[in-house]
Amino acid sequence: MKINVNRDLVPVFVLVPVFVLFIFSSLAYAKPIETIEWEDLSDIRDVSEQGRTALSFEPENWKHAETGHFVFHFTDPGTAETFYRQAEETYRWVQSILDIREDQWHNKAHIYVFEDAATWKKFKRIEAPALETADAYTTGKELFIRRSPAWLGAGKVLGHELTHVLLYRFVEGRVPLVLNEGFAEFIGYKAAARAVDGNEYRVRILRLLAPEAYVPLEKFLVTQSYPAGDKTLFYRQSELFVRYLILTYGKEKFHDLLTETARGGDFRNILIKIYQLDFPSLENGFKRFALRK
Ligand SMILES: [Zn+2]
Repeated sequence: MKINVNRDLVPVFVLVPVFVLFIFSSLAYAKPIETIEWEDLSDIRDVSEQGRTALSFEPENWKHAETGHFVFHFTDPGTAETFYRQAEETYRWVQSILDIREDQWHNKAHIYVFEDAATWKKFKRIEAPALETADAYTTGKELFIRRSPAWLGAGKVLGHELTHVLLYRFVEGRVPLVLNEGFAEFIGYKAAARAVDGNEYRVRILRLLAPEAYVPLEKFLVTQSYPAGDKTLFYRQSELFVRYLILTYGKEKFHDLLTETARGGDFRNILIKIYQLDFPSLENGFKRFALRK
């Protein structure tokens, strides 16, 4: 599963406070990451061909570290610190929302963090030529990501991408695209908000949908591929849909929706069964939540 990144950016007027907070939070966690020699990593056997390609570029520059659920490959220890803190936190959020009591996977997910734009480009030309403009992509088991200097910390993009990796880990089958991207955005906003004391409204000027941009659920739910051109509205409607379901009906039902739709079956029928509503009522509720007045 290769998934592009949404480049939905935070409004400019929050950049300064976020940046200041990021600096302070970086200082607060200034403990250097403990690097590990390649041969001492616990899960080398899980490194894919793509991973080996990544590590073949200037191999002397790559360092390695690991936490409870992730193995990190990176060239800049400062960046890696941000990543390893956020990765485990995102793991806990997703685990909690999906109420995963026992992680069936005992192996760790590998994350490759590129700093150098030219190396990232070279890597993608070999392993993911279709994703020329992407700053990250995941195969489910591994995440390849370029740390863009424009990021606010590693907030939203990393939270988003890690969520794809975690859904692959926790949910068997293929999660429908709108739920996969919507949930990744939902967690991505949560990660961005963490940098401003968890207050999402400071990073998220409530972005509702214009009524003319709304795609009726009947069509929207069965979206199989990313829309051509600007994907912003697709990501926005996906996120609003997931947000609406979780905030209105709770995380348990959302978990049921993920697991049942990932097994296949008719999305619409599964929705009606889980939420105990007829389809027009569900859609009307969502429209009241998601559309600009
Ligand atoms: Zn995504």
